[in-house]
Parts: sequence; structure tokens; C-alpha cells
Amino acid sequence: MKNNLIAAAELDRLETWAKYTADMCHSCMSSCCTLPVEARLNDLIRIGVVDEFERSEPLKNIAKRLQKDGIVERFHQKSGIFTLTRMSNNDCYYLDRKTRLCTIYDKRPDTCRNHPKIGPRPGYCAYKPKA
Ligand code: SF4
Repeated sequence: MKNNLIAAAELDRLETWAKYTADMCHSCMSSCCTLPVEARLNDLIRIGVVDEFERSEPLKNIAKRLQKDGIVERFHQKSGIFTLTRMSNNDCYYLDRKTRLCTIYDKRPDTCRNHPKIGPRPGYCAYKPKA
């Protein structure tokens, strides 16, 4: 009930984000999974899109392959950070469109595990009730 009183947040207006409590997730349309997700090599290995033996490969080459495969949309060479692909509606590549649940939950990147402890507004999330 409490969450029905919270207005839907606008992703790019941090002041509209709501103070996070764990009970919010089940009634939310997973708006956090429409934010850009940064991932590191260890995340990509855990997800299973990069093999352990590729550790010695230049990250640039790995990024090129993952971009070609449509899994990664950006790579920042200096920081070694990959950004996962988002679909045309901004959904994460790994978000199930129907259930709005993560399809790789047990293997999800650290960025997702740490949300919203770490992120654009720590302790707050872009809560949007399911339609
Ligand atoms: S990897 Fe999973 S938890 Fe992380 S943003 Fe994508 S769908 Fe959400």
C-alpha cells in the first residue's frame, strides 16, 4: 500500500527518486534495469560471455567481439569499463520483457548487486510502479 503513494520517478531527475526499501522491488517495473550498466571483465566472465582463458587478451579485442555480438554497447579503454547493451526502450539486454526480471540474476554484474547502495543517488532508486 505504502508504495502506491510514491509517485513514479523520472530516471534522469535524481530528486524524484524514492528512498529505497527492499519491499519496493516486487511492485516496481525494474526501472533500475533501464539504467546503463557498467561491467568489468570479471563480471563478463561470471556471466559466461567471456572465457577465463581470454584474460590475457587485450580488453579492446574482447570489447570488439562483444559489441559485434550485441552484448556490449560501449567500452572505455582507460578505465576498462564495458557498458551492457540496452534495447530500444532502454531495457537491459538481460531483462526479460514480460516478467521484468533479470535472466542472469545469479550471475549479474556487481553494479546491479550494489544498486542502490552505490549509484547516482546512494540509498535512493528510480521507483516506478508496475502498470
Ligand atoms: S544484468 Fe540483470 S539486474 Fe543487471 S540491469 Fe540487467 S537485467 Fe537488471
